[in-house]
Amino acid sequence: MIIVMKKSAAEQDIETVIQDVEARGLKANVIRGTERTVIAAVGEERIAGITALESAPGVDEVMSVLAPYKMASREWKDEQSVVRAGSLIVGNGHIGVIAGPCSVESEEQLVASAQAVKNAGASALRGGAFKPRTSPYSFQGMKEEGLKLLAAAREETGLAIVTEVVSPDDVELVSEYADVLQIGARNMQNYRLLEAVGKSPRAVLLKRGPSATIDEWLLAAEYILDGGNLDVMLCERGIRTFESHTRFTLPLATVAYAQERTHLPVVIDPSHGTGHTSLVPSMARASIAAGADGLIIEVHPDPGKALSDGYQSLNFEQFEETMAGCRKIANAVERKLGSE
Ligand code: PEP
Ligand code: MN
Repeated sequence: MIIVMKKSAAEQDIETVIQDVEARGLKANVIRGTERTVIAAVGEERIAGITALESAPGVDEVMSVLAPYKMASREWKDEQSVVRAGSLIVGNGHIGVIAGPCSVESEEQLVASAQAVKNAGASALRGGAFKPRTSPYSFQGMKEEGLKLLAAAREETGLAIVTEVVSPDDVELVSEYADVLQIGARNMQNYRLLEAVGKSPRAVLLKRGPSATIDEWLLAAEYILDGGNLDVMLCERGIRTFESHTRFTLPLATVAYAQERTHLPVVIDPSHGTGHTSLVPSMARASIAAGADGLIIEVHPDPGKALSDGYQSLNFEQFEETMAGCRKIANAVERKLGSE
């Protein structure tokens, strides 16, 4: 923590800040310049209330040196984390491919999707049973009935199940059926939910909120890690910008940046990230070229009839072609794709 004193700061102000810093267990190194004094507070700076120093008499600015998150950072763990959940491996050369419908709609729809994505080389099945919809009048999901269908699809195909949990009260129930708990973009800052999945034995896929900064997203991951669950995957699914031609704006620089700062694997969602079926294949390939550790893609037997997100879903043939294209890029960057 660097504390920059005002030009007008009195000697007593400087002394008071030094005492305050030391009282918090940090070492105060005082650098007296010709114009201003700067105090470098050395030690664990993620202490509750320390930024309040900015309002102390004579203080101009307080700047953090460390990232605000700890367990999610490369300083805490330099080696890349690998998340394994049943058939799904994400990280360290394995590009996990999670594919399936936006929502579980029926046994027929889900089983057909599970078989098709498995045949095309996916390593996990996605499908929402609890759907967080923008409108209360939209399809809200099949709930526990949907979870049962997901578990049956795992029985049949061996694919790990990735499904969303929207409320802390449902974490236990969803954990009984799922291999990976998805935290949706709308819930990224639902801290009670993050605490609840932090206590679950299941891996977590944490989507980035459409208006969240990367630091806010990594701090959300920190809640889950701090709760004791170390199997966390980050998922970039696009952010809100002024652009309206794509549903969201998909920033692929997030992959490189997040991998620099954190050891957690980064998954890209080109379906929600673009909002258009036609844009998904190229963004899936680009994500792999950018170094993504995984992909989550919406696939539906008949996208035109989907109860949610049909406009951004691939049909089986399109998914197979997308996988073929992704495989070429994965080979070029020496990674294994999906069930390879
Ligand atoms: C989804 O995966 O279907 C979903 C609702 O995603 P997001 O939370 O990213 O909007
Ligand atoms: Mn969706």
